[in-house]
Amino acid sequence: MRDVPARADLLVRDALLVATVDAAGRELPGGWVAVTDGLVSGVGASTDPMPAAATVLDARGCLVTPGLVNTHHHIYQNLTRSYRPAVNGTLFQWLTTLYPRWALLDEEAAYVSAWVGLAELALGGCTTSTDHLYVHPRGAGDLITAEIRAARELGMRFHPTRGSMSLSEKDGGLPPDSVVQDDDEILADSERLVRQHHDPAWGAMVRVALAPCSPFSVTPALMRATAELAERLDVRLHTHLAEDPDEDRYAADTFGKRTIEHFEDVGWGSDRAWVAHCIYPNDDEIARMGRWGTGVAHCPSSNMLIGGGGIAPVAEFRAAGVPVGLGCDGSASTDSASLWMEARNALLLGRLRRGPASTTARDALTIATRGSAGCLGRAGELGELTVGAAGDLVCWPLEGIAFAGALSDPVEAWLRCGPVVARHTVVHGRAVVQDGRVTAPGEESMLRRHAEISARIQDV
Ligand SMILES: [Zn+2]
Repeated sequence: MRDVPARADLLVRDALLVATVDAAGRELPGGWVAVTDGLVSGVGASTDPMPAAATVLDARGCLVTPGLVNTHHHIYQNLTRSYRPAVNGTLFQWLTTLYPRWALLDEEAAYVSAWVGLAELALGGCTTSTDHLYVHPRGAGDLITAEIRAARELGMRFHPTRGSMSLSEKDGGLPPDSVVQDDDEILADSERLVRQHHDPAWGAMVRVALAPCSPFSVTPALMRATAELAERLDVRLHTHLAEDPDEDRYAADTFGKRTIEHFEDVGWGSDRAWVAHCIYPNDDEIARMGRWGTGVAHCPSSNMLIGGGGIAPVAEFRAAGVPVGLGCDGSASTDSASLWMEARNALLLGRLRRGPASTTARDALTIATRGSAGCLGRAGELGELTVGAAGDLVCWPLEGIAFAGALSDPVEAWLRCGPVVARHTVVHGRAVVQDGRVTAPGEESMLRRHAEISARIQDV
């Protein structure tokens, strides 16, 4: 197919292969991608004529894919990576150890951790990331606006979610009183953030979603009110669901039902919602989620590190029509935020569960791109290299010792060999990573500030 604009802002050319991840799965040897005004304006193979462009990026030796889309993260947790007192607990033990540390978050910590965390994601081939920030300590300031400032400085596409917790230890919840808020305060601040930052336009750089932490950290009334507010503001809904067997025990004791039944009863079973993990649904719940169109953010490293021993049933979800995307989850549960690594782990875990024919590198790539775009309500706009889609792409160098001998299938080699980081990560037609380096200035000073804040929060 030939889509040739007269002139482009950016031309990425001479790729080893362009994997468009379009509906037909087109792959273009020697291919190129042109971006104009932030959107893809042309895609072609080596034999198709290319437009002239103001900026040209060399993709020789590279697999070019759409930018990977991260559907679940808690960026602030990179301030407590591999925190010794918590590393070997269950999910609930891990949370109760860390909540007092996270209670020390403030705007500076949110800004610096977001800058570092989003830069890390860009190096790993991510172009759009969500963030689920559910700890809002009293007096800490406007943490989400601070994160958005960091995303803008880096040039990353960003979907912060306004997280919330309303049940503290005194109500039978897990967090201390200082990091929970009451329902009215949460709903008012959610509406303020949407009005201040949410952009519904095609190609938007910032969108805001509403995200109670989990059905066990807020009241049923707040789950319901949040779903109603999201409907009124026309924004998306996100939460953790069925991440750990403890959650079903809690739901049985507290609500007298399974956690996914509770989720449906409070009005969340819809295509407006996507949920993180969902490791423990039964067959009937998988089918119901497919009918609702509720998306799942699959977080394979997190499943292995802290998910209570289970693996999300990704193949069954996809067969049932559930949009499945990829997430790295918080830096303190996964500790490394590379979507390349998550895609590889999705490949490995899929095959571990269902055998070698069940999951290919193309499946993992599709989950990380088109699937994630579906979770965020941006199918057709993100996660594919087609004319009119967002100009977000990654050049992955398949070169050097790790790729020697990998000649016949660059997409399989991409996830089977490696590890690999992005040579160029392009967001909205602009290189956020170029030649393996973050293009925004200030990396060293940001890391120094991050080290100081981490030491304060960890009290070391
Ligand atoms: Zn999470």
